[in-house]
Amino acid sequence: MKSKHQIFVFFGPPGSGKGTQSDMLGEHLKLPVISTGELLRKEEANKTPLGLKASRYVKRGQLAPDKLITEIFKARLAKRDISHGFILDGYPRNKFQLDNLLVMIQDKYELCPIEVRVSDREVINRLSGRRICTNCGASWHLVYKPTKKAGICDVCGHKISIREDDKPSVVRQRLAGYKETVKDLLVFAKKHQNLISINGEQSIAKVKKDIFTKIDKLIK
Ligand code: AMP
Repeated sequence: MKSKHQIFVFFGPPGSGKGTQSDMLGEHLKLPVISTGELLRKEEANKTPLGLKASRYVKRGQLAPDKLITEIFKARLAKRDISHGFILDGYPRNKFQLDNLLVMIQDKYELCPIEVRVSDREVINRLSGRRICTNCGASWHLVYKPTKKAGICDVCGHKISIREDDKPSVVRQRLAGYKETVKDLLVFAKKHQNLISINGEQSIAKVKKDIFTKIDKLIK
């Protein structure tokens, strides 16, 4: 086992399945998952000042301002549950956030980037069928991960719905934005001997198996 605790950083285009995979990895490793998208959706649902500010960016598929997202992220990192490492889904998303993360963690943790590769065409196909539960945050898909009862979350029984930003015109914008901002992260991640790069165009179970196999080897 490595001496430092690890931060597993998922990155991949919207709809690459990194949310689903990070949740499964969190359960497997017993580590908390921090999804900045979900933190924002919670702030929005609670109508907090930060949530209301972020809402117009999220709805348009644009990145929320770095200052705002960093404030929310920092508050989350203040919780104790992260002391043995954690999993990141959706942060960092650009060079500013990456540098910020590196400053925040200093040399306390080791970063382990996990890239989930999926083509643009597949992203659009997937997102049009994605549904989320606004109550508990669980993510479903009409074809790939259906709920037992149509329209109802298996976890909490609440209604599920399409995210505003999963509508096709917004998805195209998110994809373009992702490509522009991911360049710096890729350069950084590729310098890491730790980089785990996974073909995300496989079944959820196969992607999970590929990730677990590589990570179990890494942390042994
Ligand atoms: P996600 O659930 O990761 O797809 O994020 C949904 C939306 O939340 C994104 O399209 C952005 O508008 C916003 N968001 C999430 N994480 C970040 C971040 N790290 N920086 C800026 N905006 C973010």
